[in-house]
Order: sequence, then structure tokens, then C-alpha cells
Amino acid sequence: MYSSYEDLVYKEKYLKLNECGELVIDYPDKLKIIDFHSHLSNLFPGKQNDPTNKGTKIKYLTVPPIEALDLKESYWTNLDYLNKKYSGFASVMKFCIDGIKIFNDMVKGGTFDNYFISQQNNMINKSVILPISTAKSDRSMNAINAAKQYPDRLIPFCSVHPLDPEISKKIYHYKELGAKGFKLKVTDIEMKDKLNTIVELLKICHDAKLPVLFHTGAAFKTEGTKISGMMKKMLNSTRVELYGELLEKLPKDLIFIFGHSGIQEYELVAKYMKAYPSTYAEVSTQSEGSIRYLINEVGSERILFGTDWPALPQAITLSRVLLATEGNIQARDNILYKNAEKLLG
Ligand SMILES: [Zn+2]
Repeated sequence: MYSSYEDLVYKEKYLKLNECGELVIDYPDKLKIIDFHSHLSNLFPGKQNDPTNKGTKIKYLTVPPIEALDLKESYWTNLDYLNKKYSGFASVMKFCIDGIKIFNDMVKGGTFDNYFISQQNNMINKSVILPISTAKSDRSMNAINAAKQYPDRLIPFCSVHPLDPEISKKIYHYKELGAKGFKLKVTDIEMKDKLNTIVELLKICHDAKLPVLFHTGAAFKTEGTKISGMMKKMLNSTRVELYGELLEKLPKDLIFIFGHSGIQEYELVAKYMKAYPSTYAEVSTQSEGSIRYLINEVGSERILFGTDWPALPQAITLSRVLLATEGNIQARDNILYKNAEKLLG
């Protein structure tokens, strides 16, 4: 597909390399943009880094090597690459080691200085910052404090784990402190038979009038690959179907955002969006084709631009939205900022 990043920017419209060799957006006019999905170095569970520290250069290890990258599809669709990397038992180890390397890259690089440069390089005016909490560590206050420090650039969400003993009290408290929504990343492996506690938690978010964004979708397609059984179980632990089933038990006007638009499962996301009119799709990891598909299936009024920075470069998904909305300025404005403005008030 591409022989190098120079080759990639030569072939791909709306992307260029800056003087530091980083992918940045290449667009002649001004754009208004809200990134609905980003993180900072102190918003993840586990090791943290103060975002006021000087950040190291981000390697974006989640992006496949250039020879395995195909921007016509979502990031991790290349079968040869998947079979080589994730077949057999050792692949689970490899997946976990890769996960740790990616995590360290984000913690070291997800600082204010790096983020504001990336925002500036990509014409992004404001970003929703998403904490990820576990039952033991709640990162909500870090997001709220970061946004307090930079109110014209950052918009905070909160995150409370479904097994946290103080869910209701915390959610209302964070809302009072300025949280504009709620983020969660949980798996069915972790929740086992307690999936119903997520329903209770989401009802509280609904009563508190907070939109919720979940990490949804499997990163890789498993059919047609040699991916091992254990890996499949891990990959499917955040499958879109889990959340589709939860939606059935929830108030119909709960604002539920499918984070990443389900990654490989964007078609299923579109199906649920038709059944549940107050659901949205956030497009980090998606391709031009899948974003077009979502626009055609559900319209542009419920699609949100997001990048998952510092896991992924902001420029790639932004260039996909620009491609998918060529000649359709209304859809472009909806996805890049208007829908987000409506949800955030
Ligand atoms: Zn994320």
C-alpha cells in the first residue's frame, strides 16, 4: 500500500508531514473542530504522569508498521499482518506486551505540551478528555482539574466504575464540578455475571443528564484469521453486541455514544443506531469508507469526530472525515463540531 510515510502523504489527500516528520492535517482553509475522544497522561488506570511535565515524542505504537497500514480500511484489518502477529498461543503474550508498550507511550507522551501542539497542527479547537476509572482508581478529578486549568481547550468527562461503592454520589458531584459526560471502558471478562450493574450505573447517568461514551468494538476481525481462541475471547470482550443488549434495558432517551463506532463492527453500530434514536457514533479508528457508510445509514446528525489521542494520531481520522464528507459541507460541520456542541451544551 505505502512504502514509507513520504509515500503515504503523497498518496493521501489532506495529510502532510511537518518539519518534525509528524503526520498533520493539510487543509487550505480554516476548520472548526471538537475532538470528542482524547486522553491525557494522568487519566488512565495504573502508572500516571503529571501532564504539566515535558512530554516525550509519541510513537503511536497502535498504528501498524507502514508496510501493513492500509488507510482504506480501519487500522487493523490487514490479514497478513494479523496472522503473522496474533496467531497461536504466544500471541496473547505478544498482545499484552504490545499493550504495555502502547500504554507507556501514552503515559510518557500524553502531556499538555504535546497535546496543544497536536491540537494546533490539526486545527482542533477543543477536546473532550476522557478518564478511564477502575473499581480501585477513579481518574475523574484529574480530567476535571485539567479542564479547569485550560477551559478554552479541554472539556472534561468523568468515569466511575460499575463496582465502585459510591457511584451515585460521585456522578452528581463530578457533574457539579463541571463534568460534561461519562466515559467507561469495561469488558465482559472483567464484569462476568455483573453486567446488570452497568445498567444501574447508566440509569444514574441518565437521571443526571450526562451523555455516556463507552469503548465499543473488537479491534480485529477474527473470521478468516488464524487468531488464537484466547485472543478472540479478549478481542470480543468489548463487542458492540454487549452494549446493544444493555440499551434494550435503558431509558430510550439516554444519550449513548459508541466510542470508536465499534471499530470493526461499525455496521452493527449503525443497526443499533437505527433502533435507538438517541445513540451516537464517535469515529476514531474508522476509515473514509466506514464513515461514509455511517453517514448513508444514519445521517450525519449523530456522528462525532474523535481521535483517541495519544493512542492514535489526530491527523489520520481527521483526514478520513474530510474525505468522507467531500462536497457535503453540512455533514462535515455536523461531524466536526455541530453535533458535539449540541451534546455538550
Ligand atoms: Zn480511548
